[in-house]
Amino acid sequence: MKPLLRLRNVEARYGRFVALQNISLLVPERSVVALLGPNGVGKTTLLRTASGMLKPAAGEITFDGTRIDGWPDYRIARLGLAHIPEGRGIFPGLSVAENLMMAGGSRNGGGRTGGLGRVFDLFPVLKTRREQIAGTLSGGEQQMLSLARAVIVKPRLLMVDELSLGLAPRLVAELFATLERIRDEGATILLVEQYVRYALRLADIVVILHKGRVAFIGEPGELSRGGALVESYLGGSQAAGAATADATSAARPKRKTPAPRAKTRRSSRA
Ligand code: ATP
Repeated sequence: MKPLLRLRNVEARYGRFVALQNISLLVPERSVVALLGPNGVGKTTLLRTASGMLKPAAGEITFDGTRIDGWPDYRIARLGLAHIPEGRGIFPGLSVAENLMMAGGSRNGGGRTGGLGRVFDLFPVLKTRREQIAGTLSGGEQQMLSLARAVIVKPRLLMVDELSLGLAPRLVAELFATLERIRDEGATILLVEQYVRYALRLADIVVILHKGRVAFIGEPGELSRGGALVESYLGGSQAAGAATADATSAARPKRKTPAPRAKTRRSSRA
């Protein structure tokens, strides 16, 4: 399957602190890759490095075959890489509809209304709130709006960082149901998430980081070969409210509309 995003031996630093070391992985087109691991292991840093918010200290990053490491974030975004950072990234003083139209921008062109229609179909709550000032939405609604702002332009790669942060379990379930629909439309997603069980249900490939390095890459069903480190992370990582089923046997619902994904076994190794 065609790799959309590829990292090879990537290193990222904050000053002298090395946050990521020797990271190699790939995100195949039309796949969902879940990036997991305990707090502080570098998940957010990896997304920031891929989207150009942070310049890698070493290594190579390609997007659809084009070398992008060192590019500024706006230039990478233009290639179709949408990054929803931790926190919300909306314009709190504008209405829901204005937020969406600004995100739609010129890339949606004449199809802007069509874009809004599709987004309102994915996020019915935003339709009922379209005239409301975004800053007055509930936390869950604001998360939905930031996701909606990213998907309105149908990005080639959607990178989502802990969208469930601070949400009540019911809203987390709703958020994941929406992500599942976005996946079913054929999206490619790189997902950072503390709700491990939800992430595993959605993912084709799991990447677990440990202290800035890749500790495991494989399909969710292969987690049992991850060894003691992966086992101890999974054993203690079910975020509050998430169910505690055995992660290695988490059932993954099939896409409702079969997207043209490769049938061969996937691997995220670069
Ligand atoms: P969490 O699950 O808690 O969000 P994470 O896996 O996303 O954690 P990062 O936010 O990528 O981890 O942080 C990785 C390491 O880099 C941590 O030790 C963190 O303290 C450090 N770090 C992150 N941002 C900065 C920064 N701006 N300056 C210095 N160190 C930083």
